[in-house]
Amino acid sequence: MKQEYDVIVVGGGPAGLAAALSARQNGAESVVLLERQADLGGILNQCIHNGFGLHYFKQELTGPEYAERFIDELKKTDIEVLTGTMVLELDLSERRTVYAIHPQRGYLELHAKAIVLAMGCRERTRGAIGIPGSRPAGVFTAGAAQLYMNLEGDRVGNRVVILGSGDIGLIMARRLTLEGAKVLGVYEVMPYSGGLMRNIVQCLNDYDIPLHLSHTITEIRGDKRVEQVVVQKVDENRVPIPGTEEVLDCDTVLLSVGLIPENELSRQAGLEIDPRTNGPVVYENMETSTPGVFACGNVAHVHDLVDFVTAESQRAGKSAALCSKSGSPSAEGMLRLKNGFGVGYTVPQNIRPQGVEKSVDVFFRVNQIFRGAQIMVSAGETRIASYHREHMAPGEMEKITLPLALLKKAENGELVVSIEKEE
Ligand SMILES: Cc1cc2nc3c(=O)[nH]c(=O)nc-3n(C[C@H](O)[C@H](O)[C@H](O)COP(=O)(O)OP(=O)(O)OC[C@H]3O[C@@H](n4cnc5c(N)ncnc54)[C@H](O)[C@@H]3O)c2cc1C
Repeated sequence: MKQEYDVIVVGGGPAGLAAALSARQNGAESVVLLERQADLGGILNQCIHNGFGLHYFKQELTGPEYAERFIDELKKTDIEVLTGTMVLELDLSERRTVYAIHPQRGYLELHAKAIVLAMGCRERTRGAIGIPGSRPAGVFTAGAAQLYMNLEGDRVGNRVVILGSGDIGLIMARRLTLEGAKVLGVYEVMPYSGGLMRNIVQCLNDYDIPLHLSHTITEIRGDKRVEQVVVQKVDENRVPIPGTEEVLDCDTVLLSVGLIPENELSRQAGLEIDPRTNGPVVYENMETSTPGVFACGNVAHVHDLVDFVTAESQRAGKSAALCSKSGSPSAEGMLRLKNGFGVGYTVPQNIRPQGVEKSVDVFFRVNQIFRGAQIMVSAGETRIASYHREHMAPGEMEKITLPLALLKKAENGELVVSIEKEE
């Protein structure tokens, strides 16, 4: 097998699929896609509900259907695909080297002119949030429960309490109900949901599943299997309020308490990581702090909609192809994007105007609920753009498009994105 490629893509979920295709379509002559699972498609393979592709295909597809469209396109190309192949290490010190292990071919050492990282993310577990109580069976992350139910045909429980209102938890509330389980409620520590409004309506309200905001689980009880949980109201500092304890009889707890971009490889390779996104710091073309290394999809920042993953990853793949031919854009006149009031992070974090064709899409999340507000983009004291929104919530990613002409108005190399409440 070859050892030298124009572009190596790590991860065969929707981000890696779109990046590999786009790299090939934009002039990369040799592209290889490395995926640790036996099949391509990433997390989409276990998402058998519909709601994928509304923006990109203007159709409501299931996760596997969405993935299949890209896998079919990939099959028409000469992109090499190695499944069952776990990438173990990146060495970016002299050349761009990827070390991986393949079931038949053994230890691989591959070199590339450009690398695209698309490893997705993983779920926070009970250990990460430290719920007190005993350690019985029956506590699952929502994604693990989804895998057991949708790919292996096992129902994970009968009386279920869900902690956290992230999208996976909401989707699993509906899924378990459809499979005959009783979902007692979804308990969310924040005063607002962490998921999309459409999922609250379609997955909870339509099935009369209660959502308890400002609540948490303060104890899990059970010997071999979960028998009870104690739920409690929390105050504005998320501290449980004494006297509000309620004991629920249940056999299963599902956790939907956040996703963490899978960046062990990125960290080990020395890429600059943004503590706000837990993903690599990227430029306008999704290039990381190390020239020739790109990141896209959930590894860069957690997305709610796969359509945005696809668009972002096509940009990363195209940029990787261009980089393999002619290097990275010049950093002359680079702008730093900063988050001001109400904004949790921005992606990209840095913009090189030389790398922008016409405009650049900026993604971010607000850190509280806003009703009737302006997204402000400022350069120093000057507001250079504003965008009205009726409603913004931390669970819903926002996007604004900054035209190149506007970027040229930035002074002192900095643009600030902030939220201003309307009177
Ligand atoms: C449960 C759930 C429900 C969702 N529901 C919706 C929905 O209804 N509508 C919607 O639009 N979006 C939905 N999303 C969001 C969307 O599916 C994700 O944003 C998208 O799948 C992210 O794509 P990705 O390629 O970045 O990551 P993933 O799909 O996670 O793919 C990453 C891939 O990288 C591979 N990988 C990781 N590390 C390595 C390594 N070291 N070596 C080799 N391979 C590696 C993994 O095996 C995996 O296949 C949902 C997401 C989840 C988790």
